[in-house]
Amino acid sequence: MEYSVTCNCGHEVKGEERRKVEAEMWRHAIQDHAEMVKNMSAEQFTKIMREWDEKFASQEEEYLEE
Ligand SMILES: [Zn+2]
Repeated sequence: MEYSVTCNCGHEVKGEERRKVEAEMWRHAIQDHAEMVKNMSAEQFTKIMREWDEKFASQEEEYLEE
């Protein structure tokens, strides 16, 4: 199955390995939104990663239903 996350700017990352999808999205955020990332708090990072966890979980559910 394929996991995907989408940045607020519309950039989408897809892949079979969820950890790699997360890493690619952080790489995108650091390259394209460096100022924003620099000013983020630990709570904000945590919130984003929790949102991704929820998204990945719903993608797994959708995959299992097919
Ligand atoms: Zn972006």
